[in-house]
Amino acid sequence: MNSTNQQKLLAQAEQICQQRNVRLTPQRLEVLRLMAEQPGAISAYDLLDLLRVAEPQAKPPTVYRALDFLLEQGFIHRVESANSYVLCHHFEQPMHTSALFICDRCGQVTERTTEGVEETLQKLATESGFALRHSVVEAHGLCSACVEVEACENKHDCDHDHSIAIKKK
Ligand SMILES: [Zn+2]
Ligand SMILES: [Zn+2]
Ligand SMILES: [Zn+2]
Repeated sequence: MNSTNQQKLLAQAEQICQQRNVRLTPQRLEVLRLMAEQPGAISAYDLLDLLRVAEPQAKPPTVYRALDFLLEQGFIHRVESANSYVLCHHFEQPMHTSALFICDRCGQVTERTTEGVEETLQKLATESGFALRHSVVEAHGLCSACVEVEACENKHDCDHDHSIAIKKK
């Protein structure tokens, strides 16, 4: 994300928090800013390393508390299967189910909103008398850039990084 978009996003988050009367502390804001800088998902520990640049005394609970807050506000999503977190790209919207497309090669996570999926899950839940509160849809595969690299037939004379292996589940 470029810095203009990042600033816009952070300003938007601050505004939403004001409206909800919750406190976006400098620490929470910093975690959100770091997440906005990531091209994909990031683990809590990698995030802690980044946070320690600005706050050397930061500890794991610091990060987890900030992440819990951001999750609660719907600014980030948890990528359950990768044990990591990713910025939500529609956080002006209320809590939503999103489909997360996770690249098993580069780790990039693309979020798509999923009205249809949500309705289907709700219907299935209702049919079985289940009170649905929260759902996560995660799909694994390769992003378009990685599809291209994997299809490359000229491995000795190209600009790709062929050293990255696809994660096996
Ligand atoms: Zn989202
Ligand atoms: Zn990829
Ligand atoms: Zn190649």
